[in-house]
Amino acid sequence: MYNHEPDGYDCPFCRLAAGLGDALTTQHDIVLRGEHALAFVASRWWPNNPGHVLVVPTAHHENLYDLPPTSGHAVHDLVREVAIAIRSTYNCAGTSTRQHNEPAGHQDAWHYHVHVFPRYPNDNLYTTRHLPNPATPAQREPYINRLTNYFDNT
Ligand SMILES: [Zn+2]
Repeated sequence: MYNHEPDGYDCPFCRLAAGLGDALTTQHDIVLRGEHALAFVASRWWPNNPGHVLVVPTAHHENLYDLPPTSGHAVHDLVREVAIAIRSTYNCAGTSTRQHNEPAGHQDAWHYHVHVFPRYPNDNLYTTRHLPNPATPAQREPYINRLTNYFDNT
């Protein structure tokens, strides 16, 4: 419904769900996986909120309008777990989620996804743009470690 996905879209999140990866994200970035959803440390970073996490359904659904309840519930369950894990391990003061639908909503990956951000006082998340270059694997690694250690021990 109200879809904008181009024909032949090579979906990066379906690749991830299928056990593959691409130049931006690999299986190593996945920090939590359920039957219907998975969570990974994103490679697109905002300047004051490094290590934020994306949660996606394992099945391909473009946007919130298309999302069946099983996928929606699974995603939100992981969003909650990830938010608590970020709050517990990033030394942040809060968390925020963001989710975008259609180009006017600034959606630019055509597979439903929810951002979970660590928040800090005066971090200007909503008035800054993401950094021009993706975070490197070495930059992502400490956040992957924090989250995987947290989930291994809870
Ligand atoms: Zn997909």
